[in-house]
Amino acid sequence: MRNLRFYSAALMSSLAAIPMLAQKKPNIVIIEADDLGYGDLSCYGATRIKTPGMDRVANEGIRFTDAHCTAATSTPSRYSLLTGMYPWTNVDAKILPGNAALIIDTKRVTLPKVMQKAGYATSAVGKWHLGLGDGAVDWNKKVYPGAKEVGYDYSFIQAATNDRVPCIFIENGKGVGLEPDDPLYVSYRENFRGEPTGKDNPELLRMHPSVGHAGSIVNGVPRIGFQTGGKKAQWKDEDMAELFLDKAKKFLNDNKDKPFFLYYGLHQPHVPRVPNERFVGKSGMGPRGDVILEADWCVDEFLKEMDRLGLTDNTIVILTSDNGPVLDDGYKDEAEELVGDHKPAGPYRGWKTTMYNGGTCIPFMLRWPSVVKPSVSETFVCQMDLLASLAALTGQTYNEKIDSQNTLGAFLGNQDKGRSELVVEGMFNYAYRQGDYVMIPPYNAKTRYELYNIKKDPGQKNNIAEQNPRLLRQMMMRLEQLKRETGKITNY
Ligand code: CA
Repeated sequence: MRNLRFYSAALMSSLAAIPMLAQKKPNIVIIEADDLGYGDLSCYGATRIKTPGMDRVANEGIRFTDAHCTAATSTPSRYSLLTGMYPWTNVDAKILPGNAALIIDTKRVTLPKVMQKAGYATSAVGKWHLGLGDGAVDWNKKVYPGAKEVGYDYSFIQAATNDRVPCIFIENGKGVGLEPDDPLYVSYRENFRGEPTGKDNPELLRMHPSVGHAGSIVNGVPRIGFQTGGKKAQWKDEDMAELFLDKAKKFLNDNKDKPFFLYYGLHQPHVPRVPNERFVGKSGMGPRGDVILEADWCVDEFLKEMDRLGLTDNTIVILTSDNGPVLDDGYKDEAEELVGDHKPAGPYRGWKTTMYNGGTCIPFMLRWPSVVKPSVSETFVCQMDLLASLAALTGQTYNEKIDSQNTLGAFLGNQDKGRSELVVEGMFNYAYRQGDYVMIPPYNAKTRYELYNIKKDPGQKNNIAEQNPRLLRQMMMRLEQLKRETGKITNY
């Protein structure tokens, strides 16, 4: 804390310099990993694997120890980051199939639209998983609406996830490599005649499912959903990391002379974990560890490209993850067998999909060398607040009432005050955080109300609900109030 206070004073003075930078707006890059846990990085305490690339952002910037996404799964978490809205305000913000329609209202404010308004060139590269099109997409034609309608001038993305069809890339709304004589068709209802599947053709698999993933086989890996055709357009998992990296680097090169905003969605360590051969066996923890090393290499290379282009000093780089970690996520890839004493969620209880802290307390680092001094911040912050905060930083306003709060000061390390409360979403339930306390309502017939002091009890082992009836009641009422205000918290 002493260091934090020291740096706070230094930063107060450096913040005063921001208006002077107005002539030269900072570039903004958000690198968002997929299912990377709080404890998966060496700068967050991992010892079995070393992540020097990602650690560099922490060493040269602020490493947050109490940063959250709004949800413990991808789609709702990413929805909040992009729209500044709680995920329950949109009933469609649940884990989406790969042929789902775009769930973002193209008329509403989004983070990239704010950046466009501020004069930034905008781009999305990598993982998407927010739906594309109108619900009846013909992948062989223009996919509309999509990333462009959400605010990205340029995009090179997966439609959903690594493990869902369609297993092709979409560049500016167009399926990459699709040819008229071999069109691609996708279904989440039934297989196409004559196409092998993970369920019926295990002899064709090089990676076997543990749960689900009974659909089409692409690159020897069974996926969720069915596709046929578009053979030449099918991605190769081993090459995906470098391809996304190249697209991200090209965007830097193309836009180095003007302000830019880049959303770089790393596809690791989401399943299927298929690293490039250079990383196979390098972690000693199986494919999950290997793809974390691969992602770390990508970050390192990306940062080096920024150095080379002279972009490092005046670019805000935010490195984070969309939700907590998971080991077995549907493939037999030895993630559980080889994890040993590595703790993907660090000191926290819970994982991807859960309401416990490991589900939504994620790695979050911010580097801006010309303004922000390196430090560690214990301030409670949320990814959803980047929209309002970066709008404030770039002098932008919007008319909509959104849930995103301006906590720019906290993100830049100049004050201790961040969020005072936050609702976080598990797979089907909601937990409520207020100050240092987390309240978890009963989520099945066996559980009761739970209350934890997350600072004193990061492992959420000691339920103090019974000893604190007044606090519990006040938090229950506040969550009810939030439900009434939005009227749309369901399934709880
Ligand atoms: Ca995820």
